[in-house]
Amino acid sequence: RPTAQMDYLEGLNTAQRAAVEALDGPVLMLAGAGTGKTKALTCRIAHLLNTGRARPHEILAVTFTNKAAREMKTRVAGLMGETIEGMPWLGTFHSVCVKQLRRHAELVGLKSNFTILDSDDVIRLLKQVISAANIDEKRWPARQLAGIIDAWKNRAWTPAKVPSGEQAAFNGHALDLYKAYQARLKTLNACDFGDLLLHMVTIFQAHPDLLADYQRRFRFLLVDEYQDTNVAQYMWLRLLASGHKNICCVGDDDQSIYGWRGAEVGNILRFEKDFPGAKVVRLEQNYRSTPHILAAASAVIEGNSGRLGKTLWTATPDGEKVRLIGHWDGEEEARWIGEEIEAMQSGTRGMTPFGLDSMAILVRASHQMRAFEDRFLTIGLPYRVIGGPRFYERLEIRDAMGYFRVVMSPEDDLAFERIVNTPKRGVGGKAMQDIQHMARSNGVALKEGARLAVEGGVLKGKAKGSIAQLLADLDRWSGLAGEAGIGPVELAEQILDESGYTTMWLNDKTPEAPGRLENLKELVKALEQFENLGGFLEHVALIMDNESEEAGEKVTLMTLHGAKGLEFPAVFLPGWEEGLFPSQRSMDESGQKGLEEERRLAYVGITRAEEVCTISFAGNRRVYGQWQSQLPSRFIDELPEDHVDVLTPPGLYGGGYGAAAPQTSSSFESRVAKADVYESPGWKRLQERSQQAARARAKTTPSQARDMVIDMKAVSSFGIGDRVFHQKFGYGEVMEVEGDKLLIEFDRAGPKKLVAKFVVDAAS
Ligand code: ATP
Ligand code: MG
Repeated sequence: RPTAQMDYLEGLNTAQRAAVEALDGPVLMLAGAGTGKTKALTCRIAHLLNTGRARPHEILAVTFTNKAAREMKTRVAGLMGETIEGMPWLGTFHSVCVKQLRRHAELVGLKSNFTILDSDDVIRLLKQVISAANIDEKRWPARQLAGIIDAWKNRAWTPAKVPSGEQAAFNGHALDLYKAYQARLKTLNACDFGDLLLHMVTIFQAHPDLLADYQRRFRFLLVDEYQDTNVAQYMWLRLLASGHKNICCVGDDDQSIYGWRGAEVGNILRFEKDFPGAKVVRLEQNYRSTPHILAAASAVIEGNSGRLGKTLWTATPDGEKVRLIGHWDGEEEARWIGEEIEAMQSGTRGMTPFGLDSMAILVRASHQMRAFEDRFLTIGLPYRVIGGPRFYERLEIRDAMGYFRVVMSPEDDLAFERIVNTPKRGVGGKAMQDIQHMARSNGVALKEGARLAVEGGVLKGKAKGSIAQLLADLDRWSGLAGEAGIGPVELAEQILDESGYTTMWLNDKTPEAPGRLENLKELVKALEQFENLGGFLEHVALIMDNESEEAGEKVTLMTLHGAKGLEFPAVFLPGWEEGLFPSQRSMDESGQKGLEEERRLAYVGITRAEEVCTISFAGNRRVYGQWQSQLPSRFIDELPEDHVDVLTPPGLYGGGYGAAAPQTSSSFESRVAKADVYESPGWKRLQERSQQAARARAKTTPSQARDMVIDMKAVSSFGIGDRVFHQKFGYGEVMEVEGDKLLIEFDRAGPKKLVAKFVVDAAS
């Protein structure tokens, strides 16, 4: 009985429609990139609702990133009939599990207000556990132990379930340390990310009635990006689905890119075994990319062995070939991409203009982002960073969050340790030891231990006074947090001001301090959307991407991993060089398997592009402060000649990709090819130039070198009275020039002192 609301069915092809309309029983949709898996999954949710087969709260859908979850929510809302109220449970594995675990925390010895530790906290805690076991942390680093424990949790191994063959790790200590770590987490009323899944699996296995409740409640399960689920996630799904078996999973084995985090492509093969009679749907038409882009992606992925294999075709018109360009170094690459984006935005490339929102730069490693960020700030090109060095991981934000955490969960020892002497309150190592001793011997949390230490006269002098003050403050703020009438913004401002934390940065004379204050303001601003601090802390703990939602069009900068499932009309893929992409680390650690995972990542990258895909590499790159000469990636050799255009890099052969059309020559080998490019006189000249520059830089520190460059470029170009523009502060006038710094009177933001490279001439 299709109603007007079911128009969405018309837009699907036969195979998609079959997957959408098979509402009962297990369904596995296995298909290549851009074939409309996510679209079909979304329509399926809408169809379940619109046909009355399910009510919103009976549906549970899991995706891989917060961004994807948000996207799906919006799409489902758009497809839902107007009479349907409420929304399905729709989120990441972690966000769904944390919701469940809050309800049943006591079953694994936690309280419902448990804290979720981030990776930094985990390392700090593991260091304590390692040193308490009298193991030398220098020889047996916490980071390595964290990796082992995480891998075990991904396989759903509680300490009792770690097989004996695996226990030799970490010099035979790993299992004991794992146990000690779990015990510490329990006393702290905390868990790590792996625990969210592991605890829920444990709870479901031990409490069949509770599991049955959930099975009755969630009658329909849906999973996107299924190829990247790990064993713990798979078990959690299988437990939930084992009654009704209404589970629909969609995925692509060629896009499995989280093997390093324990994802198992094998889950795809197991599906048909665990859910006999599963309907398997294959989709072959790609609706996203042009034939050139699709051909390039397909050729690259063919280099992998053991694929399930599939054919992909598209009906879209030919469009641009994949563009390939080499540069002499990474800075040059960033500069070229910045200019190219501006050119494509204004339509001077002979293509229809692209809005900034429709362009993305996808990098292999987040450290590659810095060059782009610097460049874009300089030229004032608006951009957003998704993932990478995240806003919430910055020092000042973590400190502020530390305060909020102690206020909300007084037993959060890690947070207490973080803030007890920040800003400095004269609480030294000795005082801290006394507090820890007090806490341990009384079996209480550090905050309570501190109180006992003050009252029992254990603490003396300055430490005593300032700890007493801090405790009184914390209690007062906790009290306020429980009261109606004070919003989270006001509360956060009070905490930051009264604790002296804001003042600490106001008095700080280092160049970073103003930026940190800006970030704190940004943090308080983020709180506006929340009803209380607790909800905000939960949100931040789960957040995976930096979602500053300022208005305006922006270029997206993100990692290849974060870009999974997304699409952009124009995509830039920089840094296709051996060692960087494929990543040396991944090849060293996992050999051929690692290389194949890198190749899948290349496939994911190329298939994000709808119309224009630009791949680039640099001949030289500064890695950890050292200049290295780079070889183009082997993946470049795997690109099919007929579908690639090679652009001439600026400077090379005296050429430039300005008004001139892309230069192409007859033989592909000679075009892409490293050998030819590297043998050419132009390239040799560039090599020499870059080596000279590298030698000059080697004598100075990187920051000195940068200052030298800034001196040359910036200082001479601005004078008193110049009109300038800054991305954040807008237009202003230069009042003073002092070395590379400018004092600028901004029209709206008032006077600011800035490094010259961050502003541009307003006239240009
Ligand atoms: P990925 O593997 O990258 O996650 P996917 O298989 O999930 O890709 P979608 O993101 O669902 O693919 O779809 C890719 C694009 O194709 C989207 O823009 C979507 O709107 C469009 N699309 C999907 N199915 C159809 C269809 N039947 N008709 C027209 N457009 C479609
Ligand atoms: Mg998808």
